[in-house]
Order: sequence, then C-alpha cells, then structure tokens
Amino acid sequence: MKINFCKRCLYSSDHPLGLIINDDGICSGCKIHEEKDYLDWDERFKKLELIVKPYRNIKAENYDCIVPVTGANDSYYIVHIVKNKLGLNPLLVTYNKYFNTPLGIKNLANLRIQLNCDIIYQNINPISVKKITRKTFREHGNIYWPILAGQTVFPVQTAVNLKIPLIIWGAHQGIEQVGMFSHMHEVEMTRRYRKDHDLFNHEANDIISIHDDLTKRDLWQYQYPTDKVLKANNVRGIYLGNYIRWDPKAQHEEMISKYGYLTSSFARTFDCYDYVDCYNYMNLHDTLKLYKHGYSKVTDHACREIRFGRLTREEGLHLIKKHELNDPEFSNLFLKWLGIEEKGLNFIMDQFRNEKYWNKINPRKWEFNGWSRSQNPDYNKKISKIKFVKNNNFKYKEIENKYITIGKGWP
Ligand SMILES: [Zn+2]
Repeated sequence: MKINFCKRCLYSSDHPLGLIINDDGICSGCKIHEEKDYLDWDERFKKLELIVKPYRNIKAENYDCIVPVTGANDSYYIVHIVKNKLGLNPLLVTYNKYFNTPLGIKNLANLRIQLNCDIIYQNINPISVKKITRKTFREHGNIYWPILAGQTVFPVQTAVNLKIPLIIWGAHQGIEQVGMFSHMHEVEMTRRYRKDHDLFNHEANDIISIHDDLTKRDLWQYQYPTDKVLKANNVRGIYLGNYIRWDPKAQHEEMISKYGYLTSSFARTFDCYDYVDCYNYMNLHDTLKLYKHGYSKVTDHACREIRFGRLTREEGLHLIKKHELNDPEFSNLFLKWLGIEEKGLNFIMDQFRNEKYWNKINPRKWEFNGWSRSQNPDYNKKISKIKFVKNNNFKYKEIENKYITIGKGWP
C-alpha cells in the first residue's frame, strides 16, 4: 500500500485527523500554515478584543472567563495573553491527570503564583480512573482517554456551574496540524470535534459495556453537558490561535524568560517544551500512537518546525528517525499504578500494532514500516542546528521518580 506524502512537510494522507494533498503535492496543513505569514495579525487581535469585550465582568461579581490549564503545553502563554494582553480576570481550571511529574506540579504552581490567578482542581477518585484506563487501554489501546475526556469536559462543566460562559483555549489542533479550517473561519469549541478527535469517537457512555465492572457511577463526571444546557448558559469556547500568530516554540521561549517555565528533554522527541507535566504522554502514549498510526509526536514536532522554516524536510526526517523507535521511559510507574505485569502490558500493546506499518518477524520481533521508512530512503544524514532550551531534568538523583497525585509545587 502506497502512502502519499506532502512535499513540504512530513505528513501523509494517512493522518488520522484527515489531511488533503493538493495537485502541487502540498498538504492542507501547510497551505493553512501560510496564512500565518499573510494575515494581518494586529487586526485579528483587535477582533479578539471585540469578541471578549461583552464578557468583562465590570461589577467584579464573577470571573470574566475560564482558562483550562496544565503544568505544560501552552498554558503559560494562554494565561499571559488573557491576563496581561486582554486584561481579563480568568478562573483557571485543571483536571488532575495523576501521571504528574515534579516538573508539571512546579510549573502549575508557578503559573498560578506568577500570574496571580484563582484555580480549581478536579480530582476524580483514582479507583474509577484506573478502571476506565484499564478498559480503554485493553479495548482501544488508549491509556489517555480519562485525561483527554477530563481536560475537555471539566472546563465546560465549570462554565455551566459557575455561570462563566466564555472558555478560552489555545490553538486548535485540527487547524495547526492538518489545516482542517482556515483561521478566518474562527471555529469554536464543539462537542462533535471533542468526540471525533479528542476521544477517538468514544463519549463516556460508549465506554460502558455490559461485560465489565465499569458503571455509570465511574463515568458520570466525564459527561459533556447537553446542548440544551450549553445553549441556556450561552457557553462558548474560542481558540486564541485564530487571532494570534501561533508559534509554540517562540511562545515557550518567551515564557521561559518571563516566568521561568521549566522544560526537559525526552527520549522520543527533540522538543523540550510540550508535555513536561506527564510521565506517559511522550512515552507509553506516544509509543501506542506509533503502533497504531505509523508515526508519533516527533513527526508532529518536525512538521511544525519545517513549516516555520526552522528545519529542512531532510533535517526533520533525520530527527524523526533518530527518536521515533526509542523505548518509552517510566513504564514501570504505569505498571505499578495500574497493577499489571510487563508481559501483560507488552501483550496488549502488540495487539494494537497496525499491520500496515508493522511486519511481524516472530512473536517477539516486529519490523517498523511506518511513514518515515517510505520516504527518501537514501537521504544523507543531516544534523539540524535547531535549539531548544533545556533548563531541568526528569531524572532526579535524590528522589525516586513517582507519580505525584497531589503536589504543592514551590515550597
Ligand atoms: Zn505539508
């Protein structure tokens, strides 16, 4: 089976979010990315100011908006824009993912303190979270469902419960990666996108089956409010990426120097800024992505940097090949947390290797035949000069690495 690739970046038409390659061989993601260089972003920011204006709570009786945050990704930048550039008073909300690293805990505490914001945490009981994780891992090869569901539903529930109708998100992944929409469409948060893409087509009710011990009692907290409730409360979620020229690398570097955002290196990618709050995202979760889809996060990072002109296509391919087959780290923590054996973990993971991208040599050996293997097979090894600031490390010498369920952050 032949895979069609974009001539500019390293994505293929197999991208799970859906990607179109035009007659010139350029993908929809690259075409939409061009907008970053020709739209009038000053004007777009003015538009954003007009959009948020009616939500300003002049009487100071409630928050102006909700901002979902974590101890990583674009959280610092989003809060920085909302608070310092738009002058809004946000309520930060965060879903406890349980796979927290010390860096993530510190980053979140530092964000709250430096930007002086109120925050609420949602801690779902760990027994239910483990039951759901066990089930979605076994049946769908996904250990991240509760986190993706929690992070996308908790802000919406809070908007309804506390009557704060405006939710402000960072970038829209469908726009950033595959150019699903133009920035000019100004798409907003929808139940549909969450279900189709964030939750791989499984809402809370779809997870329950009659054959296991998972019940509605474990899942009700992950229920998205009904359309009727959302409409009655005028809840809307906007994406800053439609109004600000979104450049995660540059933005993170600004946050490092302004607020001391902590970064770290990973075995499976060259980007030191994303996902530093989680032991599993760039490890087990990313390895499952490679098994199922034939590419992993390092490809997303390389495509992004190619589009910004900071990597050539060859350099990107080199970086992908260098990282994508590296073993996931910290799997032992996951085994302990979920109460399973390594053999069981590998057995389940192997079941999700997509035969389009993996050749089985023998029951214990597989050969990778994914995206990167069918491009420029005889390229010359090129080392890129791209630099990421690494100001910390996961591997603490003094203490054993372990998930931090609840952490204070800075002493
Ligand atoms: Zn492309």
